[in-house]
Amino acid sequence: MSFALEHLGSNLWRGKFSSFDEKICQHAFSSRLGGKSVKPYKGLNMALHVGDEADIVWENRQQFFQALELKAENLVTPQQVHGANIKRVTRTDAGRGARDYADAIADTDALITNEPGLPLMLCFADCVPVIFLDPERKAVGIAHAGWKGTVAKIARDTVWQMQEEFGSAPEDLLAGIGPSIGPCCFAVGEDVADRFKQAFPKFADKLISAKEGQLYVNLWEANRLQLMEAGLLAEHIEMADTCTDCQHQWFYSYRADGGQTGRMAAIIALNQY
Ligand SMILES: [Zn+2]
Repeated sequence: MSFALEHLGSNLWRGKFSSFDEKICQHAFSSRLGGKSVKPYKGLNMALHVGDEADIVWENRQQFFQALELKAENLVTPQQVHGANIKRVTRTDAGRGARDYADAIADTDALITNEPGLPLMLCFADCVPVIFLDPERKAVGIAHAGWKGTVAKIARDTVWQMQEEFGSAPEDLLAGIGPSIGPCCFAVGEDVADRFKQAFPKFADKLISAKEGQLYVNLWEANRLQLMEAGLLAEHIEMADTCTDCQHQWFYSYRADGGQTGRMAAIIALNQY
């Protein structure tokens, strides 16, 4: 198991987990390099909702999807709200949010599907992307877990939803926790630390640390623990261990970039047969 950045040409880079079988699905975590956006979004901004030019974002999306041999016009993406709603999407949703943010799936922070050739896409800059593959039932998903989604256990609930919708057995599911803000940089106030203590009472010591009087939370571990709680096997959970704040020359980081910045995409699609 490993995570690596692969060069796709034209300075486009794709983060990839080794355990997600390319014979079944394609997945990618974009970086900020390449692309046509200009400051403050400079690079491959994949999000329509951050104030960037819609035409440029559409070009960025097309360029990256083309490099992945996927169809940008079929992608499905939601309007993320740091909530815990999960939506199953089908062929009739193809293209929703691809070019027009107003048309994206409303009020949703995780998408699941068993439809081949339907790319799911969510956007990130420090929040934790969690991707899912059920190689047995042939289903995929992506969850957006910022601190609020992590405390609300959206990753665990996505497993439950895949069980319900597709009959996925948790012990079959693979999950990947992508590039996002690490325990090195996710400084929080006591109020946020308390929310983690309440949500993970047995693991507070593992998730919260203090350095020179500042509290830090480990979002990666909080998501890994809830996937384990849902029945995933430890050896089926991949961790990118890649901090977007430490490595903001590679990745958009909401914190390192001072708020106004672009977004990376996490993408997964079942292969078309
Ligand atoms: Zn860091």
